[in-house]
Amino acid sequence: MMQWSARRQSSWVQLAGHPGNFHPSEGGEVLKRYNAVENTCLEVLMSDALRQFVPQYYGLASRGEDSYMRLEDLLSGQICPVIMDCKMGVRTFLEEELMKARHNPSLRSDMYQKMVKVDPSAPSEKEHAQKAVTKQRYMQWRDNVSSTSTLGFRIEGITTENGKVLRDFKMTQTSAQVAEALLSFTNKQPSILEAYLSRLSALHEALKESEFFRTHEIIGSSLLFIHDRTSRANIWMIDFGKTLPVPSGLHLGHDIPWTEGNREDGYLIGLTTLTSMVTKALEQSQG
Ligand code: ATP
Ligand code: MG
Ligand code: MG
Repeated sequence: MMQWSARRQSSWVQLAGHPGNFHPSEGGEVLKRYNAVENTCLEVLMSDALRQFVPQYYGLASRGEDSYMRLEDLLSGQICPVIMDCKMGVRTFLEEELMKARHNPSLRSDMYQKMVKVDPSAPSEKEHAQKAVTKQRYMQWRDNVSSTSTLGFRIEGITTENGKVLRDFKMTQTSAQVAEALLSFTNKQPSILEAYLSRLSALHEALKESEFFRTHEIIGSSLLFIHDRTSRANIWMIDFGKTLPVPSGLHLGHDIPWTEGNREDGYLIGLTTLTSMVTKALEQSQG
C-alpha cells in the first residue's frame, strides 16, 4: 500500500492553484475542492460536444468537512509526463470582478507585495508610498505584463522531463518569448508537435459545435498539454471556476476583442495564436 501511494503521488504534478485544493485519489481519479460554478460547468460539459476535451467528471466526494469534485486524473498512467498549463483568453478576471473591485476600490497590500515580487518597478510612486494597489489595477496589470492581453493566452507553468517545475512566466509577454518556451517544452520533437497540432485542430472543430462554448464566458480556464516519452501527446480543457453562463439569448463569438460589457473572453483569439505558434515550432523542428 505504501509503495502504491508513493508511486501514485510521484506522477502528480500541479502547475497552478493552491496545493491544498487537490488530493490524489484512487482508481485514476483526483479530487479538486468543490466550487459550485465549476461543478455546474462539469455537469453540463459531460453531455456537450466538448466532452472529449474535458477530464471525466464522476460526481462529488467528501473528505472530513470538505466537499470535492471527482475528476479523471489526466496524469494517470504517464511515466515522467511533461506538462504545460496555458491560461486561455485575453483577460483573466470576470466583468463581475471588475465591477466589484470598482465599487469597492480598497487598497490591497497583499496585491502590492505580489506585484513587487514580479517586478519591483511596476508600482507607481504613489503605490510605492501606499505600499498597496487596488484590485482592479492588479488584475489589469497581470494580464498586461504577460501575453494574456496581446496573444490571448499565457503560460502558467511547465514541467521539464527531469521533473523540474517552472512557474516563472508572469512576465513572458512577447510572441518570441512564448515561442521559445514552446520549443523548449516540446524539445522540438516533430512527432509531439504534430500530435498537439492535430488535437488543437480537433478542439477548434468541437468548439464550433459546442452549445456550452456559445453560451459561456470562459475566464481563467486552461489548456493542459501533456506528453511523455512515448510520442503520446494530448491537450485537455481544465479549470472552470470562473466560467459563467451568459444571459439567455446572448451568444459569444470568442474571437472579437473585449470591451467592457460585451462579455467576450477572446478564447479563440488565444487558440488561434497558440495554433499558429505550434505550427511554426513544427516547421522549425523539421528544419
Ligand atoms: P487556478 O485557478 O489558480 O489556476 P485551480 O485551483 O482552479 O487553480 P486548476 O487550474 O484546475 O486549479 O489546476 C491546477 C493544476 O493542477 C493544473 O495546472 C494541473 O497541473 C493540475 N490539474 C488540474 N486538474 C487536473 C486533472 N484532472 N488531472 C491532472 N492534473 C490536473
Ligand atoms: Mg488554473
Ligand atoms: Mg481555477
